[in-house]
Formats: sequence, structure tokens, C-alpha cells
Amino acid sequence: MNFPTTVDPTWQTIHKGQIHAVGVIESKLCPLCGIEHESIDHLFFQCSFSSSIFSKLLLWQGDRRSTMIWQEEIQWAVLNANRKNVKATMYRASIVACAYLIWQDRNTRVTQQKQRSHEQITRLIKASQYNERAEFIPLKL
Ligand SMILES: [Zn+2]
Repeated sequence: MNFPTTVDPTWQTIHKGQIHAVGVIESKLCPLCGIEHESIDHLFFQCSFSSSIFSKLLLWQGDRRSTMIWQEEIQWAVLNANRKNVKATMYRASIVACAYLIWQDRNTRVTQQKQRSHEQITRLIKASQYNERAEFIPLKL
């Protein structure tokens, strides 16, 4: 996969839950749904756009549980996805890919007014699971 291996300042800011501190945003509405206030919990798990992606990935991996808020998802991952089996490895890769592509799409919407559908992002993540050398396709609309 072609995901960042280091944590850049933007990701550190996001991790602290300070999305608007990044300085690019004028609106505090979620750029993905345009309805709710943007926060870490909303953007990555509660937003209908993101939740649709993550729900499909969980179901695809045979996990029928509902998506949770950010902190609950992290706690679940620490308890259940730290093993070296295929399912745990796929979960970890999916959650990283999901967060990366949702954040990328959110930024592209804000800065370039371009977007991917949740189906496109889901397909990219699934494809990356099959081929370790798969690279995410640059956003071309
Ligand atoms: Zn939203």
C-alpha cells in the first residue's frame, strides 16, 4: 500500500481532534455530508459518507458489528486487532486506508472542489487489500 509511514503535522493536529486548527477551513460543516458539524468522531465514523465506507469494509471482512465513534473504535482495535492473523491484519490495513482516503477526500473537497464517491473509496481500499503493491489512484475528475 501507498500510505504515509510518518506522522506529519496535519495528522498530529487531527489526532488531537483539532481539525479546524489546520487553518484551511472556513466552514465548520463537514465537507463530506455538508450537514453536521465537523469533528474527528463525525468525520471518520459518524458521518453518513464515512460510515457507509467503514460499514461496507467491516461487512466485507465478515464483521457484522456497527461502526463506533473514534475512541471506541480505537479501544476495540487495541483489544481485538493486535494479533497477527489475517483478519486482524486486514482490519488494521482497512482502518488506516479508510482514515487516509477519507481525510484525502475531505481535503480535496475543501481545496479543489473535487470529490470521490463512497463507492470509489471503498473499491480503492478493497483493491489495496488484494495487492500490496496497489497504489491509490490520484484524484482525477
Ligand atoms: Zn459528515
